[in-house]
Amino acid sequence: MLKSFTRNYEDNSTDAGFQFTFYCDVCNDGYKSSFVESETYKRGKGLRNLSRGLGLLGNLAGGRLGNLGYSVERGGDILSERFEGQSPEWHKEHENAFTQAQNEAQQHFHRCHGCHQYVCDACFNEDEGLCTDCAPRQEVYVAKARASAMRRNVDEAGEEAIV
Ligand SMILES: [Zn+2]
Ligand SMILES: [Zn+2]
Repeated sequence: MLKSFTRNYEDNSTDAGFQFTFYCDVCNDGYKSSFVESETYKRGKGLRNLSRGLGLLGNLAGGRLGNLGYSVERGGDILSERFEGQSPEWHKEHENAFTQAQNEAQQHFHRCHGCHQYVCDACFNEDEGLCTDCAPRQEVYVAKARASAMRRNVDEAGEEAIV
């Protein structure tokens, strides 16, 4: 399992290419990195086309591909199982693509100086450099304070009316 800068991420990679979704540590909103086609897969495709003509290897590759498509469709498989049988080259690409995807996704996240979580735009208080967990946005805070002040006024007014 690769280690992500956010606490949660999803690996959307297949044998054809690599893609990852990173989730905000606060609201769990996801950011999906751009799809990177696997070089190994591209080369393999050429190979498979060649071998299909020769009647070799094509069955093998086709069979494995078929299974993979099936398990991706089912979606429930654990990652290690899903990526089992991929070539070492694929795994190397996978790792590189993950680093690349993280660099890309980090542009869309902010690191909180308080709790060091990575959060999305909506969960980041730019003024404070803190996530909304650590520093509620001023507007939100003001709105809350105003609401409770109003409640207090209404209560007081009610009491006065009784007296
Ligand atoms: Zn968020
Ligand atoms: Zn924080």
